[in-house]
Amino acid sequence: MKTCQVSVVVPCFNEDEVIDAFHRALICALGSTRRTFEICYVDDGSSDRTRLRIGSLATADRRVRYTSFSRNFGKEAAMLAGLRMSRGDCVVLMDADLQHPPELLPRMLELRRCGYDQVVARRDRTGEGALRTFLSSAYYKAMGRCMDVEVVDGEGDFRLLSRDAVDAVLAMPETNRFSKGIFSWIGFDTVSFTYQNMQRAAGRSKWGGRRLFNYGIDGLISFNSRPLRLAIHAGLALALTALGYALWIIAEVALHGVVVPGYTTLLTTVVALGGIQLVTLGVIGEYVGRIYCETKRRPHYVVRETNDTAKARALPPVDGRRTEARPGPPGPAVERSRARPSGATAIGASRFHTMRQFIAFAAIGFINTAVYLAVYVSLNNWIPYLAAHVVGYVISVLGSFLLNSYITCRTKPTWQALFRYPLSSVVNLVLTGTLLYIGVSHLGLGKNVAALAAGILATPFSFLLARWAIDSGADLARRRTAPAGSRAGRTAP
Ligand code: UDP
Ligand code: MG
Repeated sequence: MKTCQVSVVVPCFNEDEVIDAFHRALICALGSTRRTFEICYVDDGSSDRTRLRIGSLATADRRVRYTSFSRNFGKEAAMLAGLRMSRGDCVVLMDADLQHPPELLPRMLELRRCGYDQVVARRDRTGEGALRTFLSSAYYKAMGRCMDVEVVDGEGDFRLLSRDAVDAVLAMPETNRFSKGIFSWIGFDTVSFTYQNMQRAAGRSKWGGRRLFNYGIDGLISFNSRPLRLAIHAGLALALTALGYALWIIAEVALHGVVVPGYTTLLTTVVALGGIQLVTLGVIGEYVGRIYCETKRRPHYVVRETNDTAKARALPPVDGRRTEARPGPPGPAVERSRARPSGATAIGASRFHTMRQFIAFAAIGFINTAVYLAVYVSLNNWIPYLAAHVVGYVISVLGSFLLNSYITCRTKPTWQALFRYPLSSVVNLVLTGTLLYIGVSHLGLGKNVAALAAGILATPFSFLLARWAIDSGADLARRRTAPAGSRAGRTAP
């Protein structure tokens, strides 16, 4: 291809059902612009026939180029690979599900001719659920206040970038990529227009609630350090509140004499403060985790197969350098990853993983103690206190099971796991009782100090048991539902 005026980059993940219809619509729209073009498909480790389909599109048409990842690395990595592959004077980023209408391409190119470096197609929210619309606009409003870059509701990745803008995006080496922020950060003359939101032509969206939630956190953290500032402000506000409360107590004592200390207030305050401290630790941990990822300088993705002969075949930077791929066999060039994580890196990563899980487990423990207390104190006035204790206990165990499944172990809760889970509470009860007894009777510790020490010492064991209950329960459920053939594991090719 001598000169290419337009590159269209399309990240695809399990788009088997829609990719052919998308390709036909795209060719039709690009044909009407009378520009030379190329289409860069990036298969993001699809498990359906997407890779084969884009492979055959490339065989049939030389203007189609593709790269296929060794596994699913996420849309951000796929867009990065597509931008690296692109050679056009301008690049259009589009989804493969026809939610980004190809008919808008002529208009975008027209605006590019007027000199804009970024032309953004902004979708309205037609046909979207009321809850999602509300949550999205609330998120963007909050982001507007928190972020150092401007991120606009409805403006996504569907946009045209000039070659200068593409080069600026590619010059940003970060591992944790948040494209909406990056596009805004690079600046350049930008214009946007609104189009009517379209539903997916076929297939399913890959953005479930959890993925969207994590993406929201990425957006919040990628472009500023304000959450850390917020933690400082919250800490100061709490310290001042505590000071005011202490002054009030002193005044009460001076005016009315010594008052009986409120056990519930004290405990709730301690638990709330513990919770806030752990949340703050979590925020700091997010940043530290990101620094950890950035320092490893891992490639953004691993290429399994590509028919690209130039730029995209240069592997992503490792140790700040670009590694040129070895020349492939005749026909479509094929790169296969030989990368294996080194033992030390794998052990480091697994320690980090366990530490993250443990912190989450401890934080959830605090939250559940607060939940138990809240339920117990509220029900106490209405039903016998032992019944209130049982209800509070059951709710807090269920809550802790769900939170530990979703947050600590990042797995779906299963009935099998739920049946095993109370075991960790029983072991915790026996262990803390034993340690308490040893502390008080044999070591001569005060009863309160011994209870605190027993609680702290037993936490790691409870954590390991709770994790075992959730993980093994999930495994068991998977094995039960897996087809007979797959239970034996995959056979080598
Ligand atoms: N996509 C991808 N990798 C992923 C998830 C999605 O390349 O891990 C692609 C997907 O094939 C589609 C685009 O990103 O072309 C947008 O995905 P989706 O339609 O699921 O997102 P939504 O439109 O629901 O936000
Ligand atoms: Mg979509």
